[in-house]
Amino acid sequence: ENTDQNMLIATEYVHSVYESVVARNPQEFEFHQAVKEILDSLIPVIAAHPKYRKNSLLEQLVEPERVITFKVPWVDDQGKVQVNRGFRVQFNSAIGPYKGGLRFHPSVYAGIVKFLGFEQIFKNALTGLPIGGGKGGSDFDPKGKSDLEVMRFTQSFMTELYKYIGSDADVPAGDIGVGAREIGYMFGQYKRLTSSHESGVLTGKGLQYGGSLARKEATGFGCVYFVDEMLKSKDLSFEDSTVVVSGSGNVSIYAIQKAQELGAKVVACSDSGGYVYDPEGINLETVKRLKEVERLRISEYVKEHPHATYTEGCEGIWSIPCDIALPCATQNEIDEHSAILLVKNGVKAIGEGANMPSTLDAIDIFHEHGVLFGPAKAANAGGVAVSALEMSQNSMRLSWSFEEVDTRLQEIMRNIYNSSVEAADQYGCSGNLVAGANIAGFLKVADAMLAHGI
Ligand code: GLU
Repeated sequence: ENTDQNMLIATEYVHSVYESVVARNPQEFEFHQAVKEILDSLIPVIAAHPKYRKNSLLEQLVEPERVITFKVPWVDDQGKVQVNRGFRVQFNSAIGPYKGGLRFHPSVYAGIVKFLGFEQIFKNALTGLPIGGGKGGSDFDPKGKSDLEVMRFTQSFMTELYKYIGSDADVPAGDIGVGAREIGYMFGQYKRLTSSHESGVLTGKGLQYGGSLARKEATGFGCVYFVDEMLKSKDLSFEDSTVVVSGSGNVSIYAIQKAQELGAKVVACSDSGGYVYDPEGINLETVKRLKEVERLRISEYVKEHPHATYTEGCEGIWSIPCDIALPCATQNEIDEHSAILLVKNGVKAIGEGANMPSTLDAIDIFHEHGVLFGPAKAANAGGVAVSALEMSQNSMRLSWSFEEVDTRLQEIMRNIYNSSVEAADQYGCSGNLVAGANIAGFLKVADAMLAHGI
């Protein structure tokens, strides 16, 4: 029973844990934001079950089990020594080995890796598969680097990281700036350093050496499957809808593909330089070639499709009227202002393909206006879910067909949707999938932690 008194005690407890996170992790704003979102939605759970408060479960949850920071020296094409910083946050291993991607981007610092690792705990729990939460990366900027520079950097990165990972300990994968090429170089280096072909130590591998079919597509496809479930609950669908997808990386490309397959017209996508608006519908073959093969900027798109327009800067993409918005670029790309524009232009659903792409204020605006909102932890969990399926296949030393993996992915996304809806209903926040996803993920991890003792 959630009496007023219990709610009051829970609210005070949650606020005190949040304050201590801010005090102990100064200047790590993204981490504070991710913690605040989770903790606020757990108030009714804490109120209903005093055992979590009595065992200081939240204090335990917000402290990473291990944070590793290391030097990554490498030699650039001019023969100059460069020094970057590497990170791996092993956040929570209650339900399985640490699992989560590596991000190579100049913005990477402890606050980014911690926010991503923290989110990963709940996301991974939601998949229903036995994977704990972790994340890593480096402030290395892959933009403009030659293939050999990327290889030297990733080898140096793995020369330190390999000590801390393993198929039963910690299993990294890709994230922004880390795709099949980087995973391949890191796998090669791990194999060299350990003299073992331990296929389950990384996911997102190439198909020739233990990768899973449909892993590449999984995050984008999964996001669209999730949004499709939300739409169906209101008798809506992707068919004949207008969709805006930010980004043009691995998540965006396959979100665009699946949205198009379901009959949507995707009119825009972007990269860190700006966005393309194509009123006739984005030509995905062009985007794939530019981004996956030629590694060029999205501004090149308009040279081949002169009826399309390119605009510098990223925020403007949210001023394009659409029925469905899929932010698949990066954190905090939709702020209050962009959310208001989207609502004013009649957006019906948001599916977060990126991690934490909407600010807390933006989420409030979507909820206030009855926009269907699929939070990142739920909507983009398809990527890590298929990573876990890749681990399963590696353990069994066999590989499933594309259809087999895709069918499992669809089922996982449906289950995530249903358990989020049910958790929200059960704790008095019906229709709020942010709360539902947070609560469903939390319960599984928290009960495992209690079972393990202090
Ligand atoms: N980086 C992805 C995520 O944010 C995938 C992680 C993984 O496959 O381990 O979930």
